[in-house]
Amino acid sequence: MIHKQFTSNIITWYNSNKRALPWRKTTNPYYIWISEIILQQTRVSQGLPYYQKFVAVFPTIQDLAAASEQEVLALWQGLGYYSRARNMHKCAKVITSEFNGHFPKAFEQLLKLPGIGPYTAAAITSLAFNNPTPVVDGNVYRVLARVFGIDNNIADAKSFKHFFNLSAQLINKNDPGTYNQAVMELGATICSPQKPLCNACPVEESCFARANKKQNALPVKIKKSRNRNRYFTYLVIECNGKRAMTKREGKGIWEGLYEFYLIENSSETPIDKLKNSFLEQLHLKGVVSSEETTLAKHILSHQTIYSKFITLHFKLEAEVSKLLTENGLVLYSQTEIDALPKPVLISNYLNSASKSINLQD
Ligand code: SF4
Repeated sequence: MIHKQFTSNIITWYNSNKRALPWRKTTNPYYIWISEIILQQTRVSQGLPYYQKFVAVFPTIQDLAAASEQEVLALWQGLGYYSRARNMHKCAKVITSEFNGHFPKAFEQLLKLPGIGPYTAAAITSLAFNNPTPVVDGNVYRVLARVFGIDNNIADAKSFKHFFNLSAQLINKNDPGTYNQAVMELGATICSPQKPLCNACPVEESCFARANKKQNALPVKIKKSRNRNRYFTYLVIECNGKRAMTKREGKGIWEGLYEFYLIENSSETPIDKLKNSFLEQLHLKGVVSSEETTLAKHILSHQTIYSKFITLHFKLEAEVSKLLTENGLVLYSQTEIDALPKPVLISNYLNSASKSINLQD
């Protein structure tokens, strides 16, 4: 019952409160598509002039398909994220050449087109072709989470299904386009992220968040931290004023740069030389002396590296050179090291170490 009431309340409210926007006066899928792609990029007030320019310069999908990429990008200029514009152009070409200039009507078919995801496909199929496919965007998440008290984490991709299924129950089968627009309009103008205008809301009486003062707590959005901690111990092998380095291979940070022999730990626990065969073998080759730096923190965009440098001094190059070669290491003089590309972490270490160590040139 609450579902039916929700749907009818927001549609009644929408019909007398909707903003007069040009793409709401048409069922032409081409115009609806253009507006949806632009609105994924910016707010309505900023997107409106772009929409007007696009439909004036390219009034049909064939006009857009025939344009050069440069012309399309020039019109898009200022919106950012240029791959959207490129995909739009590609999509226009596919529809013109493979669909005779007509948008496919089915959600699944629309999804196969370049740059069209579930949101855009749902918007086109419901607004242009009256198919009862619900849209789920940020506005929909917010309104439904608050009204129905849903605390699923919306940053988790699995939550999409939950909101999509609920929306599929709520959608007005006779007028799906109006329902979709109504719920999005409510989220955009009344049920805003901060300070929602509950007093002016058509569903305030049945709203869970309103009744429980949970407007600020819903929807739940917990992004997984992309930052991870890494623990690097570098073995700085020194012999006759030279230091052993290796080129970092593979994808990931610092590809192609030079570093010392690296032992990566899963935590800050000290390295046990008996548990690391390379370190154990080095010790067997006769380490003259060794020093260890304290743990230093180095912050990158998605990872924090805690690093430590253990310097091992050897007297005779012949003793260690075979072992170094077997482990991809080469002894370099200071001048050679200066010329090698290195991560900042290594350069910083070398700068501080050069003040205290006398190295061969
Ligand atoms: S009552 Fe408030 S929180 Fe609930 S849907 Fe309306 S505006 Fe959003």
